[in-house]
Amino acid sequence: MSAIAQPQSLPPVPTPQPKGMLIDGQWVGAASNGRIAVENPARRTAVAEVPRGGAADVERAVAAASKAFPGWSRVVPRERGKLLLKIADAMEARAEEMGRLIALETGNALRTQARPEARGAADIFRYFGGLASELKGETIPLGEHVLSYTRREPLGVVGAIIPWNAPVLLGALKIAPALCAGNTLVLKAAEDAPLGVLLMAEICQELLPPGVLNVLTGLGDECGGPLANHPAIRKLSFTGSTEVGKIVMRAAAERIVPVSLELGGKSPSIVYPDAGEDWVVDGIIAAMRFTRQSQSCTAGSRLFLHADIFDSFLDRLGKKTAALKLGDPLDEASDIGTIINARQFGKVCGYVEEGLRRSDARLVFGGLPPKSGPLSEGYYAIPTVFADASNDWRLAREEIFGPVLVAIRWTDEDAVIRMANDSHYGLAAYVWTHDIGVGLRAAHAIESGWVQVNQGLGQTPGHSYGGYKQSGIGREFSLEGMLDSFTQRKNVTVNLNVPRRA
Ligand code: NAD
Repeated sequence: MSAIAQPQSLPPVPTPQPKGMLIDGQWVGAASNGRIAVENPARRTAVAEVPRGGAADVERAVAAASKAFPGWSRVVPRERGKLLLKIADAMEARAEEMGRLIALETGNALRTQARPEARGAADIFRYFGGLASELKGETIPLGEHVLSYTRREPLGVVGAIIPWNAPVLLGALKIAPALCAGNTLVLKAAEDAPLGVLLMAEICQELLPPGVLNVLTGLGDECGGPLANHPAIRKLSFTGSTEVGKIVMRAAAERIVPVSLELGGKSPSIVYPDAGEDWVVDGIIAAMRFTRQSQSCTAGSRLFLHADIFDSFLDRLGKKTAALKLGDPLDEASDIGTIINARQFGKVCGYVEEGLRRSDARLVFGGLPPKSGPLSEGYYAIPTVFADASNDWRLAREEIFGPVLVAIRWTDEDAVIRMANDSHYGLAAYVWTHDIGVGLRAAHAIESGWVQVNQGLGQTPGHSYGGYKQSGIGREFSLEGMLDSFTQRKNVTVNLNVPRRA
């Protein structure tokens, strides 16, 4: 079991007082007056309530965004960029408050995850703020007497839906590129983690005209469904599970609106025999996102270890992982926090139980969470590794979204690439070797949108990021991503050979 950092006296929890949903520059409740409780998963206590938005609220928000669109789309792009840069400054100034709020509602540890997420979200506004003058078109050489050029025009009102696992970062990744490109936005926060997103909305609203950004809180089917199906939405941008991604894509197909989908993953990490070293052990821990309870779409959750290093590597992986401190997310000493909610916690425990039941699985470390003591008060899952796994086990095929890693032995390179690709997902992948030729050969053969060689880091604004296969469609993290996902190209062709007037 990982070391336990639960202090004798728990750190004080923030007491958020969300103002409501943001519609047309106003803070409002749900038309139904319904509310949803937001829980602190470390203590299983409600810490705030937010409006339970529904179809009527979607209607109001889309109307506000539609009204704001003509004005916002005509703001000179660099002026839009300057506003995003001011938002970045304001987000940075409130990063500590934001980090604590994220830790409170997601259970992500403040030092290792929540604070970096708050700073990362500010950085996303800064990145896209600097790109506003890059919304360039092209001229097309059709001949001396023709002027043919393209314009990058915004799409209109964007409907965006986000998950809870990195709510503020993922929300910033919708707001910044959509607004930079001249669209207006209706964003639905995840029901489990709306507080940080509402604080971000408050920061943005101090600088934006009313209606440009609207933020709703509510449940998936009650609020996300009407948003995905609203006839005035001109673009859908969804981050979440593959299952719900298919529902959103069906809604987009119904009206032929463009859709970007950032979905789930079951990403492979392949360690070659020359890389059985400590820095790779550290890299595997980072790639598996153990300090985010592995609630990450890019978690390298299938570990393919070469047979020559299999046992010694796992031994060191166990020791290093055990040194990570599991504890209250708001405690600076904690490396690892909690799972988001009771449902996910039960699901993760179910996978661990399944591994423990299998006679052919070997538990290397971890196991079921403690049933007593301070950690039993929250949804604390223990990093767990099962060895001698097979790529066709349910544990190796399904996205667990929790800290359960399966280690699979390999000897033949072609066979390990086949196993890595034998998944309906294709989001991320990690390759570990000193031989760069081998590393690049593997990187090119793997069917994933993002392959890292010799590192297990998170996404950086500016790189092309997105899924292959059922891990998604489209890219949003970069300049090309913004242009492809949040603008449409218009061609204007002018005949210059018009006869002179007499
Ligand atoms: P989810 O799909 O259950 O929910 C995501 C969002 O969709 C929430 O806001 C939810 O309210 C909404 N929703 C649910 N049902 C809906 C419906 N019928 N219509 C419209 N909206 C609906 O996902 P989750 O559990 O919140 O997040 C975890 C998932 O997100 C994982 O699969 C993870 O891999 C994925 N994810 C992907 C990326 C990426 O960049 N590819 C990033 C983060 C998370």
